[in-house]
Amino acid sequence: MKKINSKLTILGSGPAGCTAAIYAARSGLNPIMINGSQPGGQLTITTDVENYPGFEDPVLGPDLMQNMIKQAENVGCHTYNEQISEINLEQYPYTLKNNNTTFITESIIIATGASAKWLGLKNEEKFRGHGVSACATCDAFFFKNKKVAVIGGGNTAVEEALFLTKFAKEVILVHRRDQLRAEKILQKRAFSNNKISFLWNSVVVDINGNENPKLVKSISIQSLKDNSISILDVDGIFVAIGHKPNTDLFMNKLELDNEGYLIVNNQVFTNKKGIFAAGDVHDKTFRQAVTAAGFGCMAALEAEKFIESKK
Ligand SMILES: Cc1cc2nc3c(=O)[nH]c(=O)nc-3n(C[C@H](O)[C@H](O)[C@H](O)COP(=O)(O)OP(=O)(O)OC[C@H]3O[C@@H](n4cnc5c(N)ncnc54)[C@H](O)[C@@H]3O)c2cc1C
Repeated sequence: MKKINSKLTILGSGPAGCTAAIYAARSGLNPIMINGSQPGGQLTITTDVENYPGFEDPVLGPDLMQNMIKQAENVGCHTYNEQISEINLEQYPYTLKNNNTTFITESIIIATGASAKWLGLKNEEKFRGHGVSACATCDAFFFKNKKVAVIGGGNTAVEEALFLTKFAKEVILVHRRDQLRAEKILQKRAFSNNKISFLWNSVVVDINGNENPKLVKSISIQSLKDNSISILDVDGIFVAIGHKPNTDLFMNKLELDNEGYLIVNNQVFTNKKGIFAAGDVHDKTFRQAVTAAGFGCMAALEAEKFIESKK
């Protein structure tokens, strides 16, 4: 079993982890970053990113993240392509480990992100970034004057549908029940928006499209009333059935809210000393690369203060 000691371990290599790594390395903390099973995080599964500052033209998500990891390495962060399966926060210094390696560390920045929940359809992954999305803030712009479907019935789905009306010419909200779960105020806004229509008691059973270029053309919808299948022509589909924060490791070890997100004070402090959180692992409001990066910066600056204070 390999043992690696560090003052600061950054768990996760999405925008939050990479930004924390860049700041911590530049302040001489010799941090390490554990990349996890998805080096670069969620943006590696998308195509064009148009809202991350600094790029005149759209940048591909995987390219952006490869550059961020490289930048962290270039300023002195050591990165490990490993996934952590166990963490001990009872004994100090803290330990994180898997079958190969034990990481012993004085402080941790948790940047394990969140995963959008998907429908689990055969073609969903194939068309991701080509008409299938889980983020209207990120992708609505690509659907100007198009017809799109939003799947879900909670706050997120209604907020996504309302946001999409700024761009799309028609938004169809497909929901498995006959009423929305979203807050009444959101429901009122959605019902009074003439670009939004509703398909009740319905589930999406397939996504259909062209191969070359890869583009969504329609979705197959099953009625839960009579099981009949119909085809709805759309240019895009936004899956809005929720997110799951990647916090299983921290259950009963750190304070989590009822949806499993890490609870933070003052932006980045968890309830344990020397342990900070950054990005989608605690932020269920903004969920953007640039906000995750901002939290990463804050967490690194606070980690630096913490390590200094121990001297
Ligand atoms: C399809 C899609 C398109 C998007 N498009 C945009 C966009 O255009 N613009 C925008 O601003 N935002 C976009 N987003 C949102 C954006 O990707 C997220 O807000 C951002 O990636 C969050 O960054 P993060 O660093 O907090 O976490 P993540 O990017 O989720 O990264 C989490 C990291 O933690 C690691 N990890 C998890 N568990 C472990 C473990 N046990 N051990 C070690 N490592 C672990 C993972 O490997 C990963 O590296 C999109 C999201 C999706 C899903």
